[in-house]
Amino acid sequence: MIPTVYRVSERSVEYPGTFTLKLEAENPEPDKLPMRFAPGQFNMLYAFGVGESAISFSGLGSDDGNLIHTIRAQGNVTRALERLKAGESLGVRGPFGIGWPLHATVGREVLIIAGGLGLAPLRPVIYAGLLGHLAAIRVRLFYGARRPSELLYREELAQWGQQLNLEISVDHGDGTWPGHIGVITDPLQAAQIDGANSVAFLCGPEIMMRFCIQVLLRKGVPASSIYLSMERNMKCAIGLCGHCQWGPNFICKDGPVFCYEDIRPWLQIRSL
Ligand SMILES: Cc1cc2nc3c(=O)[nH]c(=O)nc-3n(C[C@H](O)[C@H](O)[C@H](O)COP(=O)(O)OP(=O)(O)OC[C@H]3O[C@@H](n4cnc5c(N)ncnc54)[C@H](O)[C@@H]3O)c2cc1C
Repeated sequence: MIPTVYRVSERSVEYPGTFTLKLEAENPEPDKLPMRFAPGQFNMLYAFGVGESAISFSGLGSDDGNLIHTIRAQGNVTRALERLKAGESLGVRGPFGIGWPLHATVGREVLIIAGGLGLAPLRPVIYAGLLGHLAAIRVRLFYGARRPSELLYREELAQWGQQLNLEISVDHGDGTWPGHIGVITDPLQAAQIDGANSVAFLCGPEIMMRFCIQVLLRKGVPASSIYLSMERNMKCAIGLCGHCQWGPNFICKDGPVFCYEDIRPWLQIRSL
């Protein structure tokens, strides 16, 4: 429960109100290993004097122990994190939760389906795929954003487009947008998918995940091969306080990544 003090070493704005922080430990102990985490896990980031927020890892782990997090300023804590400048400090507790089942990608086609900020927790899976850490047949990314100006990781998206099968869709075009306008279920529906040989990882607004899951099931992707990351208000992050209880699950310790087959009854109850 005791946060470690980290310092912002780099800060970049993805688009107004959404930013990526690179963090380094302020006083790394020489004999302590750098934080090890799995894609899909999260940290509690503590803006001193304001409070803590659950924030997913949006980068891969590195030997120097630097951490990458992408954050949307929504309320008190995330706005305080947004005000941090390079060199300023914050507290970090983690890593917490169960991440993406990378073992399930072996010999399969991996369908990464992200809506808005949901791309952040999936970015380490994309890196793992690009670096050859997944023994998958291929990796495909379906990414939906509200508008072209709200696409995350724009430079990387351009590179990923050369390296993996990428479909981007925006809700509203801006006159110059050459790609698809509409919801991400359209390109997903149009895609040739070998359902039985695919595994899908989804993160985004719940409504988007619900509709995408219906498309995946119709295309023959088994419920046992569909994984999604869930979000609820979180406090302790270790399954004690009950803030993030969802049906019989605590999202902090049983998730945030769940297999659709296991949580189907709970996902069907709106506003649970
Ligand atoms: C496992 C997990 C991973 C997350 N990863 C990220 C991430 O990578 N980047 C990021 O920007 N955010 C992420 N979030 C969401 C983030 O934790 C909340 O946006 C943040 O805690 C809001 O705190 P605040 O004090 O800034 O705003 P508050 O004032 O607490 O809330 C602002 C508004 O957002 C709502 N809200 C707060 N927390 C949540 C939540 N978890 N789910 C739905 N609505 C919420 C509140 O009800 C309120 O309407 C994650 C949440 C979870 C549970």
